[in-house]
Amino acid sequence: MATITLNRSNYYHNLNQFVLKTGSKDKIAIVLKDNAYGHGILEMAKLSSEFGLKRAVVRKVNEAKLIDTLFEDIIILGGEVEPNPKYSYAINSLEQLKTLPKDAKIELKIDTGMHRNGIAMDEIDAALSIIKQKEINLNGIMSHYASADELGSEYFFQLQNFRTAKAKTLEAGFENVRFHIDNSAGAIRCSAFEFDLVRLGIGAYGYNHMDDSFDDFTLKPVLNLYAKRVATRALEKGQRVGYGGEFIAPKDMLVSTYDVGYGDGWRRGNALNPFITADSGAILGRVSMDFISLEGDKKEVCVMEGAMSAARHFQTITYEITCALHADIPRKIVD
Ligand SMILES: *Cc1c(COP(=O)(O)O)cnc(C)c1O
Repeated sequence: MATITLNRSNYYHNLNQFVLKTGSKDKIAIVLKDNAYGHGILEMAKLSSEFGLKRAVVRKVNEAKLIDTLFEDIIILGGEVEPNPKYSYAINSLEQLKTLPKDAKIELKIDTGMHRNGIAMDEIDAALSIIKQKEINLNGIMSHYASADELGSEYFFQLQNFRTAKAKTLEAGFENVRFHIDNSAGAIRCSAFEFDLVRLGIGAYGYNHMDDSFDDFTLKPVLNLYAKRVATRALEKGQRVGYGGEFIAPKDMLVSTYDVGYGDGWRRGNALNPFITADSGAILGRVSMDFISLEGDKKEVCVMEGAMSAARHFQTITYEITCALHADIPRKIVD
């Protein structure tokens, strides 16, 4: 079976970097949505709680139910609203506000410029009056950056809008409301952390996607992917490997099959431009559903050490590489 290792010390290094940025563990809400970006929600929730984090963010209530004994406070970004004192639901529209079940606790989401989710800036007053009138428990006001990792003015435009939203909320007399807009990139780029929380995702898992022009902020990848040897054969020069026979042995060589493939969420890619594994050279020929072939006969190989090399190779982002890894691959915590 393929295995994913989760490096505890790298994870804690990353969390500490963000504690230094924000000033407190209490200001970190660890984003565990989508199986903790493919790392494994139970394992990452447990490590986060052992580190001392009290807040988490998930996409759906069923994810919250898996981890709610480990946290004091869980933000749920979408889906069904099931009131629970620990759960706070991101609300994206005035319609949603009007149809909330009694006792629901909410984080009102403001569209400060990403134009994906949230109420418009000119709907804030209407939203706050519905909240007052219906006595809805307003726990937070939130927004999301479209491009905090890129140089450019969009970030400042959104930040300014969010400050306006905060001022309006306070003017309307709301107390005990928290304000949060930052994701990993927002927290990395700010010089003095301004709000109450960072919703920390990709940075915790060890990836810094900032433009090179930003200051160095060293993060360490948490996840490695390993595969075990299934079989070994000696190939003669000219023999082919795998579907379509796209790899032709350039010499007599030893080739082994390892137990990871696109059925596990590994990319199939293009056999003519093979991915180079972390410790065993290029993948030979096509990736099968459950197997890859590599030169040599090591018992276990490291397919990727962190997801950056795969993200570059497959021209995507690390999020997509790690999220794709199936939940049934065993996860092992290492130091
Ligand atoms: C996924 C998500 C985050 C985390 O973003 P990263 O870039 O991974 O840090 C924060 N906030 C919201 C609303 C999200 O959906």
